[in-house]
Amino acid sequence: MLILVINCGSSSIKYQLFEINSQYTILAKGLVERIGLPGSNIAHKPNGKDEVVINKDLPDHRAALAAIEEALVSPVHGVIKDVNEIAGVGHRVVHGGEKFTRSILINEHVLDAIRENAKLAPLHNPPNITGIEVSQALMPGVPNVAVFDTAIHQTMPKKAYLYGLPIDLYHKHGIRKYGFHGTSHGYVAKQAAKLLNKPFETLKIITCHLGNGGSITAFDHGKSVDTSMGLTPLEGIVMGTRSGDIDPAIVLYLQEELGVSLSQTNDLLNKQSGLKGLCGKNDMRDIVKLANQGEEMAQVAIDVFCYRIQKYIGSYVAVLNGVNAIVFTAGIGENSPFLREQVLENFSYLGLKLDTAKNRANEQIFSTKDSKVAAMMIRTNEELVIAQDTFDIITRR
Ligand code: ADP
Repeated sequence: MLILVINCGSSSIKYQLFEINSQYTILAKGLVERIGLPGSNIAHKPNGKDEVVINKDLPDHRAALAAIEEALVSPVHGVIKDVNEIAGVGHRVVHGGEKFTRSILINEHVLDAIRENAKLAPLHNPPNITGIEVSQALMPGVPNVAVFDTAIHQTMPKKAYLYGLPIDLYHKHGIRKYGFHGTSHGYVAKQAAKLLNKPFETLKIITCHLGNGGSITAFDHGKSVDTSMGLTPLEGIVMGTRSGDIDPAIVLYLQEELGVSLSQTNDLLNKQSGLKGLCGKNDMRDIVKLANQGEEMAQVAIDVFCYRIQKYIGSYVAVLNGVNAIVFTAGIGENSPFLREQVLENFSYLGLKLDTAKNRANEQIFSTKDSKVAAMMIRTNEELVIAQDTFDIITRR
């Protein structure tokens, strides 16, 4: 069975085509960029072959999905004969609000509810909705499944998701913590349990998804009980260009004292802050290089980044009353032994002992055999989860 996984952004579409037999095989994957802009193109990578970049005028998402279909059936770099072979499409949807606690087959009611949630994720849900609409239009009759970033965090208790704000803001406007990156957190937490050879439902696990965006989640016996992102993906740790937690009065100060407008504040907090705001760079590889060359602010940015993560892990150890495993994933978490070490340097009180050789060799378990807490690195795979959920839902229908 063939499942197409789509992650639709405002001017891009990431895709992977999976073949599912006894296992999941990626037949092709790719990225369409600059949709609706000059210079649009599709970078298509068939399994086992070189990537091809096709430059093509793609005025909208419909044209972009049509270009993906063309690439998939192309006699030169295609991997299937006919798009009718695709049995289902899985969509990443960022915000599922309180309504969606798991992945779901999309019908008109579901689509309306996703549209309703767009006010909570104005940057993300609208392109996700467009992705669903164009896939319904171009592949009529093929089932679509929505997989939500927020769903896994719906198990958080009230004490974790309510802000100390007038309760009407929650009841009337849905202002509460939702959390994101749920597909990734859930995947790596379950993989960690497998590697430790213990049921997920018996463990206390803290997962650190550290990419351009980043968040930390506490899993108590298989359930997300707290997570660092909030109403939006701005809350939490310091990220590539996002501030993470700040005193909310800073926003008032910016606007009242410095005359910064609403849209400038939005841009400042989401795009000009975080690592970029501190040292001018948002790519951690560049920052590490600069710090190694003695650039002071690059080192400060790394220190702030690691310190905030340490504080979250420490607070989640308190929430969980202990921890069995601390798991690192995504670009920084998977590739920077040096940062993993810096983050974990203050947890010897838990009986956590690192095996630095294993850490530097990027081994999945990099704590010592006698460590009381497992330190782990697990590569995330959100597309695989979307493909699995889509397969499960459409075969159960
Ligand atoms: P996204 O959130 O865009 O999916 P990724 O998960 O790909 O992001 O993570 C991107 C981040 O990972 C960037 O800051 C990048 O510099 C960082 N990264 C990748 N490789 C390394 C490395 N070897 N050392 C430090 N950081 C790295």
